[in-house]
Amino acid sequence: MKEVVIIGAGPSGLAAIRSLSKYKDEVKITAYEVSDRVGGVWVNRDPYKNSPMYDNLRANFPKEIIGYPGFPFPADIKESFLPHRMILEYIESFAKHFQLYQHIQFRHTVLNVDIISSVKGKERWNVMVRNEKTGAITNKKCDAVIVAIGFVHSIVLKLICQGQLSRMFKIKLSYN
Ligand SMILES: Cc1cc2nc3c(=O)[nH]c(=O)nc-3n(C[C@H](O)[C@H](O)[C@H](O)COP(=O)(O)OP(=O)(O)OC[C@H]3O[C@@H](n4cnc5c(N)ncnc54)[C@H](O)[C@@H]3O)c2cc1C
Repeated sequence: MKEVVIIGAGPSGLAAIRSLSKYKDEVKITAYEVSDRVGGVWVNRDPYKNSPMYDNLRANFPKEIIGYPGFPFPADIKESFLPHRMILEYIESFAKHFQLYQHIQFRHTVLNVDIISSVKGKERWNVMVRNEKTGAITNKKCDAVIVAIGFVHSIVLKLICQGQLSRMFKIKLSYN
């Protein structure tokens, strides 16, 4: 059984959990999320993280092209450019429908990601996590890490991964 850690339960992290959950006999998933709910930037006024969302925001892409494959927005919604609240409801219904909550540890912040070993293309990783309710810091070993922390949090990615990734792939990471 491979162990995969997913960092973030926004739209991208949920897509990753959904994809991997199809292989439940082969992959054990643990997702960590700073907040106490799914949705990422679509959670307005989230007390647990700085969100750039604002009260009157509507999506600038139509719902017809931003949904998850095989999970359309409810048919009774007629308008295309939806307010953020309806996008969040859709994301939450996706997580509920596919039973993704069971894989997510809320109020857990990933502090650091380190590679432990790399043998013949197979890596082992250590993910350092803080439980925000208790303050306890633990280390989770795994075979792969999916970073789905969004561009708003890219500074965190830079802090936790740049050293390792740039060394492994000889690249320079950049962010907008
Ligand atoms: C104001 C605004 C308006 C936007 N409008 C649109 C739009 O109209 N249409 C559109 O398609 N896109 C829009 N976007 C883009 C938006 O970023 C994406 O729609 C989508 O939210 C990206 O999902 P994500 O999961 O990659 O990142 P995010 O939504 O940012 O989710 C990342 C998650 O990772 C968690 N996280 C971060 N760091 C850690 C850590 N160290 N440990 C644990 N968890 C962590 C965060 O708490 C968050 O829940 C908008 C973005 C903003 C900021």
